[in-house]
Parts: sequence; C-alpha cells; structure tokens
Amino acid sequence: MELLFLGTGSGVPSKGRNVSAVALQLLEERGATWLFDCGEATQHQILHTSIRPRRIERIFITHLHGDHIFGLPGLLGSRSFQGGETPLFVYGPTGIRSFVETALAVSGTRLKYDLHIHEFTEGVIFEDEQFIVTAKLLDHGLPSYGFRIVEKDLPGTLLVDQLRALGVRPGPIYQQIKRGEIVTLDDGTVIDGRNFVAPPKKGRIVSIIGDTRYCEASVELAKQADVLVHEATFRAKEAHLAHDYYHSTTLQAAEVAKRAEVKQLILTHISSRYQGEMCDELVEEAKTIFPNVSLAFDFSSFPVLKKSAE
Ligand SMILES: [Zn+2]
Ligand SMILES: [Zn+2]
Repeated sequence: MELLFLGTGSGVPSKGRNVSAVALQLLEERGATWLFDCGEATQHQILHTSIRPRRIERIFITHLHGDHIFGLPGLLGSRSFQGGETPLFVYGPTGIRSFVETALAVSGTRLKYDLHIHEFTEGVIFEDEQFIVTAKLLDHGLPSYGFRIVEKDLPGTLLVDQLRALGVRPGPIYQQIKRGEIVTLDDGTVIDGRNFVAPPKKGRIVSIIGDTRYCEASVELAKQADVLVHEATFRAKEAHLAHDYYHSTTLQAAEVAKRAEVKQLILTHISSRYQGEMCDELVEEAKTIFPNVSLAFDFSSFPVLKKSAE
C-alpha cells in the first residue's frame, strides 16, 4: 500500500504542481490502483509513473470543483483506448453522473468497459471483504467530502510448523484448527485451535480529506489513522484567507492530525504562492503542533507500512 501524489497544487496548475489527484496503490493487496480526485491532466501525470490506467479500479471524487474533476473524462476515455476492459467504479457527490455522462456523450466517447457511477452523500460508500470506505461532509464552498479507508483485519496464519511437530498432517482438520475450534486428533489428543493460529494483523487506516475549512468531520474521519492526507492551502498567518475561501492552514491541518491521534500527516493542495524554501516553512509551522508531518510534491510517494501483529 502506497500513496502516490499526482497533483498537489490548489486551484490552477503551476509549473511545479498540477491540480489535485492522489493514487492509493493497492497492487500487493488487490492488484489495483484507487484514485482520489482527478484534476485536469492527471492522465499526463500518470505517464510519468508506473500506474497503468487499466489497473485503476475505483475513483473517489471529493467534490465537483474543476481542479478536482476536469481530468476525469479524458482519463476514462484513454483507459478504454489503452486496453482497459475491467469495470471501473466512480464515486462522487451529486452531479458527478451528469458531468461524466454529458462529457462522454457530447464527445462521442464510447467506453469498452462498464462504468459504474455512484453518487453518494454520507456513510459507507464501498465495502468488500478487504476494505471499507466511508465518507463525511466537510465545510467547503461546494459539498466536499473526506474519506476514511479502512483495511479489514487480516486473519492470523496457521502455525503449520507447530502442527507438523505434533504429527498433524494437512487436511480438512487444518480448516477446523484455523477457525479456532477444539479438535481431537487420531491418537486422542485434544488441541485448542486458537493455540495454533498467529494473532490477526490489524488493517491499516488512510484518511483523505477534500477541500475544507477546519472542521470536526475531518477529526472523526482521521481518528487513529496511519496516514492523514489533509489540504493546507494557506500558511498560518493567512487564516483569514483560508476562512474566506473555505480552505485550511498548515496549523489547522496539524490540529486535526493531533486531535485525531494519527501516525503521519501529509499536507497537499498547496497554493502556488509558496515555492522553494517557503514549503519548508509550511512544514515547520505544522510541526509546532504535530511532529510527523510531510508536504507532498507531485510524484511524492509514501508507503503505508503493514502493522505488526498485536
Ligand atoms: Zn481544490
Ligand atoms: Zn474546492
């Protein structure tokens, strides 16, 4: 699991930063890439990475401002040209369907794969045996959402070596032991399956917050997350601008990270007014409140490390 930033600027693209998009690489977990937001030219950014458009399985859109969605129709079309045949799922606030369907229809774009568009409000928007994704409304000029992506706990592995040492041969009995049942062996020995299964591995939690003012919903979405991705459009002393334009400052993002007790904070959606050394200052500001903070640049990647068994 890895976060790969494709666009980290706010509002309009600059030479140094494209508009918003971040990939959650789940290659080991499910052979897939999930995308969060798809600003203009996201597909150009992808060309500089190892991401394969046909591997993009799900796209989650935080809100409908142009810097977060204008890259979507182009990417959807190119995915079809480049051999994408597996279904693609797009999740976004109300309006995403008409945006995508209109763009594809008027441009005569026909997709060779099934496109499923889900308009969501709040709550669970995706769940399978591996992951659960929930959304909550934030505080922005348009309805904007944050996501909490939770990997479900992985069951512990069977301690095969210990079973072999007891003379227990592989077979249906291994399934019973793995379920933690009490099992009687052929020689009459009774064993407790729970003693032969390693502890479950805790799943990871990633929280990706859309454009927003400082708000409680962000804290709730980020609770105990391994990684929090939060916008920091402005530096601390521009809090009045952040408020007026419905954005956050470095200190506000750090405050969310601290209150939510996350392990790591990554700042993105950076105004083009901050360049070079000023970016270091943004990080230093945030560090006064929350120590483990990084500022994303285009093509920055951050592994989300597996947790050790607890
Ligand atoms: Zn934005
Ligand atoms: Zn916005």
